[in-house]
Amino acid sequence: MKSHVGVAVIGGGVVGCSILYHLTKFGWTDVVLIERSELTSGSTWHAAGGFHTLNADTNMAALQGYTIRLYEELEAISGQSCGLHHVGGLTIATTPERMDYLKTERAKHRYMGLETEIIGPEEIRKRSPIVNTEGVIGALYDPLDGHLDPSGTTHAYAKAARLQGAEIYLRNRVIELKPRADGSWDVVTEQGTIVAEYVVNAAGLWAREVGEMAGVVLPAHPMEHQYLVTDDIPQVYEHETELPHVIDPGGENYLRQEGRGLVIGFYEQACDPWAVDGTAWDFGRDLLPDNLDRIGESLEVAYTRYPCLETAGVKRIINGPFTFAPDGNPLVGPVPGLKNYWAACAVMAGFSQGGGVGLTLAEWMVEGEPSRDVFAMDVARFGDFCTKPYTRTKVTENYQRRFAISYPNEELPAARPLHTTPAYGIWQAQRAVFGAGYGLEQVNYFAPDGEELFETPSFRRSNAFDPTGEECRAVRTAVGINEIHNFGKYEVTGTDAETWLSRIMANRMPQEGRIVLTPMLSPKGRLLGDFTVAKLGPERFQLTASSVAQAYHMRWFEAHLPEAGVAIRNISLDRVGFQIAGPKARELLQRVTRSDVSNEAFRFLSARQIEVGLVPAIVCRITYTGDLGYEIYVAARHQVALYEALSEAGRDLDLRPFGMRAMMSLRLEKSFGAWMREFKPDYTPAETGLDRFVSFKKNDFIGRDAALAEKENPPTRRLCTFVVDAADADVWADEPIWKDGELVGFVTSGGYAHYVEKSVALGFVPPGMIEDGAAFEIEILGDMRAARLITEPLFDPQGERMRG
Ligand SMILES: Cc1cc2nc3c(=O)[nH]c(=O)nc-3n(C[C@H](O)[C@H](O)[C@H](O)COP(=O)(O)OP(=O)(O)OC[C@H]3O[C@@H](n4cnc5c(N)ncnc54)[C@H](O)[C@@H]3O)c2cc1C
Repeated sequence: MKSHVGVAVIGGGVVGCSILYHLTKFGWTDVVLIERSELTSGSTWHAAGGFHTLNADTNMAALQGYTIRLYEELEAISGQSCGLHHVGGLTIATTPERMDYLKTERAKHRYMGLETEIIGPEEIRKRSPIVNTEGVIGALYDPLDGHLDPSGTTHAYAKAARLQGAEIYLRNRVIELKPRADGSWDVVTEQGTIVAEYVVNAAGLWAREVGEMAGVVLPAHPMEHQYLVTDDIPQVYEHETELPHVIDPGGENYLRQEGRGLVIGFYEQACDPWAVDGTAWDFGRDLLPDNLDRIGESLEVAYTRYPCLETAGVKRIINGPFTFAPDGNPLVGPVPGLKNYWAACAVMAGFSQGGGVGLTLAEWMVEGEPSRDVFAMDVARFGDFCTKPYTRTKVTENYQRRFAISYPNEELPAARPLHTTPAYGIWQAQRAVFGAGYGLEQVNYFAPDGEELFETPSFRRSNAFDPTGEECRAVRTAVGINEIHNFGKYEVTGTDAETWLSRIMANRMPQEGRIVLTPMLSPKGRLLGDFTVAKLGPERFQLTASSVAQAYHMRWFEAHLPEAGVAIRNISLDRVGFQIAGPKARELLQRVTRSDVSNEAFRFLSARQIEVGLVPAIVCRITYTGDLGYEIYVAARHQVALYEALSEAGRDLDLRPFGMRAMMSLRLEKSFGAWMREFKPDYTPAETGLDRFVSFKKNDFIGRDAALAEKENPPTRRLCTFVVDAADADVWADEPIWKDGELVGFVTSGGYAHYVEKSVALGFVPPGMIEDGAAFEIEILGDMRAARLITEPLFDPQGERMRG
């Protein structure tokens, strides 16, 4: 065993072996894998081996496509068969909503280069005669779906890695991890200690335990899962070719051929979290006792969908555990708060995702950043709000929803409320309908009297449509109040605060009392953040950005902080407040402060520390609604007092609360982008128009060279706004954009802009097509809708309201 290595991967399941292989593929050969027992000794050995590309996140789906296409390369390099069966797969729809969902997926696949198709019941029967299509509307067919041999595939990764220089140490449990002063780790194993520059936790069922060795709680939890293997079935083995996979989401089952019989597995409602207090170290190649009661109901449904099952004997029942994160996607990347400790765990579909996870981790570790946005599987998408009970509750919900439709407007109910601001009760009393982001309750909209406090999940306009319209009109015609809980907030202080900020942000830093907008870039010039920076004192700044990126941004900040001279704090839950927006916003603010807030004294993009009502506040003259408006920040303990003052003073100004749905509608009227929609690490400043906030005249900053290169060599796509001739459904994201019958781009987000009464889409098309009024088509739920490109915002194009 080596004593010093570059990377020690802990865990020899399919994920650990894929990482080892990919690190060697990227040229790192001083890498080892340490396995407690034999390879595949966790979840991997008893997996059903199915693979598919379907994932709500487009980059995850692309990485799943990468995984599936990799297997042939792997077989060629290793000489080891993966036991591939590329039989294709059908996901069937029994409700119009499910059909809508499959159509949106199909639409996304068009620009992702995935050759899926929508087929009807007759074609379903032709491809798989064992399916009873009664009640079936259609299906999505994916030729890439199939299954493999889990053990053969894991060994193929391992062999390929070994051939390229990696070493594997079996029957050698990691028992302790000790950080060293230089950031490397003492990896204490049963066979001795290895010093590793990087550690990767790919410990699958034991990922929680290997996290705790480094003092972190990873939001992962194992669940029990069962599938049955049947005896031979004539309808199966008499079919000329191997049958395709079938997923019947309504029946919560997946089915595939296994030899002359079938395998059928279930994601049942009566599911069981496994090993709640931790996974025993002596759990090995064990199966759990069968529990047919748990899947009895699902089995009944399956007998109707696949009648040949009813008379088939059961050869084997597999009940095994595997691990999930709260949203079902993997946990990958550098773990926030630790140095050189990486996660690659909670991979619930190792044979669809393992290759993509390995590729991403290797790219990120070797090249400094992944080649695409991988936030959907970044371990930093969760923060310290993920306690063990929170994780368990959300993982259970996710398991139950494995085959549920993911509606874009849906708010999941489990483990809520978790975090609330002091204003929570105030909103509740006004009939707020809440959503949650990063663990925090946020108002989506206010339900009118007599209507239920629940937004109907839908791909079409929901029951929130009319109340949201009312709220938008209140903002644009009088003044609205909204809690600014969608911001992550940070305070940066110290003698070197400005120098440091100017190095990690792309724009120049503001004068004292002023605000700037700035992208934060990666060395390769990709967007890592979209920040508002206010200079509050000579050595004091307030930063705001998207709230869901808190751990993600803190990880970046901490990785780039100097030894001394700068301190940064995440103050998101400590400093809260409201924004007031609309033509009467100034009048309202003036009524509650003795400071002069006239346009001359308090210009657009200024920040003041003044008293508002009874309390000290930081007031920034800026608002995401694009109207005249102010963000007012106070200590959490002062939030209720601030609300009382504003609400009392605003009574005869028609002050009205508004929620996130209205805010997102109002920003569309100004063509303002949103983080993780228009702005994310897939895109660059010049593509998104954020290059107007990049200063090449100031000091050197991270990403400058790349941004400069982009300036000299302009991008091939640019973000634009479209007015869409929509019916009862607006775009959400990822819809394809067509011009003259040709696929030319895709939508990043959109919706209905209530005040201007137009359906709006933001999206990317080639720069040569950008012309005011140019005609396009956007595919919404399978229908081609006419769309017109616009080059000016729909509301206040000159910014007179905002600045006036
Ligand atoms: C019944 C069932 C059916 C499934 N069907 C499918 C399917 O059809 N398709 C699909 O894609 N996925 C399926 N899965 C899920 C799949 O099994 C997992 O996604 C995959 O196995 C996860 O692999 P892993 O490498 O992350 O973890 P694991 O397989 O759990 O591997 C972790 C490894 O780490 C080792 N280890 C842990 N701690 C230490 C330590 N301290 N020191 C050294 N070594 C350590 C363990 O011994 C183990 O070998 C199924 C799972 C189950 C239970």
